[in-house]
Amino acid sequence: MFDSSTACLAGTSIAISTLIRRDTGTIGIKGVKHMAKFYLDTQSQPEVGNQIHDSECSQLPAREQLQYIGSYSNPQAARTDVKMFHEKVSYCPHCLGQ
Ligand SMILES: [Zn+2]
Repeated sequence: MFDSSTACLAGTSIAISTLIRRDTGTIGIKGVKHMAKFYLDTQSQPEVGNQIHDSECSQLPAREQLQYIGSYSNPQAARTDVKMFHEKVSYCPHCLGQ
């Protein structure tokens, strides 16, 4: 009995991960407007304040000091929302700098 319930659980988790992968693929194929996920460095720094990062950034701070902002079509929209809570907000020069 114990063995069969373990097997059942494993089967469920495989099914779920397959489903997620298929959904992501569907979104890509449909060509829905590209949305990026943005994160905020909650640790304010002297010169730049709180920095906004793209989820793909190679210089993302430690998870513990990251706050998920949301999905936006551009970093400016993310900054507008962050500015409601933080006085000084800038873009990470690695992922959003120009
Ligand atoms: Zn970054």
